[in-house]
Amino acid sequence: MRPEDILVPTPAGVCCKLGAFHIDPTRPVERALITHAHSDHARAGHCAVLATQETLDLMRLRYGDNFAGTTQAIRYGESIDLGGTRVTFHPAGHVLGSAQIAVAVNGLCVVASGDYKNVRDPTCAPFELVRCDVFITEATFALPVFRHANADGEIAKLLASLALFPERAHLVGAYSLGKAQRVIALLRKAGYQAPIYLHGAMESITRYYAGRGIALGELRPVRGAAKAELAGTVTVCPPSTLSDVWTRRFPDPLTAFASGWMRIRARARQYGVALPLVISDHADWDGLTATIAATGASEIWVTHGQEDALVHWCATHGLRARPLDIVGYGDEDEGGAEAVSEGGEET
Ligand SMILES: [Zn+2]
Ligand SMILES: [Zn+2]
Repeated sequence: MRPEDILVPTPAGVCCKLGAFHIDPTRPVERALITHAHSDHARAGHCAVLATQETLDLMRLRYGDNFAGTTQAIRYGESIDLGGTRVTFHPAGHVLGSAQIAVAVNGLCVVASGDYKNVRDPTCAPFELVRCDVFITEATFALPVFRHANADGEIAKLLASLALFPERAHLVGAYSLGKAQRVIALLRKAGYQAPIYLHGAMESITRYYAGRGIALGELRPVRGAAKAELAGTVTVCPPSTLSDVWTRRFPDPLTAFASGWMRIRARARQYGVALPLVISDHADWDGLTATIAATGASEIWVTHGQEDALVHWCATHGLRARPLDIVGYGDEDEGGAEAVSEGGEET
């Protein structure tokens, strides 16, 4: 048996012919296994969806009740048989409910990791290393220049700015699923106790996280708050709103942006961000290469970003590697192109 007998890369996502399913398909299919609820991985319109309960709930919040024909929830560590394949979900440490999907047949195991990070995040289960023969990895930040800072240190910069400018409203641009809630949880972990304000696009997902027992403290909608009330406060909002007329409701706003791309000064300038915060929900270069090595896989399939550098790194470390040409995965969860259109609603 070859790995391609288990999973075949197609332009619409990887497909398991034996088990009759796709993983994170970019087009509607009969049966989809979904790693996590970011929109480039989790699309509406599949006949049947298998995912963690959190991923199903988040898809329902974003797409409405009829986002799939039927749904089935699976827990981390639970295995099910699909057409003679054994499928197991493991934590990916990326966002709430995110999973790596292991598919095993006759002792050969392929792991599709979706998006992942190997650093602690108070809003989701930690990344679990899964030994396998073939590891499918993302490559969003797969260049040696990407070394993410310690997230607590970045949050300390935000708190220092609040202390320095106690009258200014601090606006933190963060993707609405995952990053926003992580920024809030990190502020709480650092001892920040004041109410945190939410842009309307953040409300339902953030309240869902709070309902799952994640300590986010007191949250208030920006909508309806008086301008004077917002002096010296923190508001979390979609990155696209940072340069919007929406910011005029805040007294002397100071803009921050939490993204792995903030490592690149030109990106911070492009967004006109005063306070770049290098906080990413993806593994950085060291995280990717350390994880690849630790899986013990002899073959690596690379998708989703800077494939070339990672394929080259694998080759120089004696691993077979190939890029997958899957159209439709993006970096919208870090403030890439799609995030710019995310915060359309004027709230
Ligand atoms: Zn993602
Ligand atoms: Zn992604």
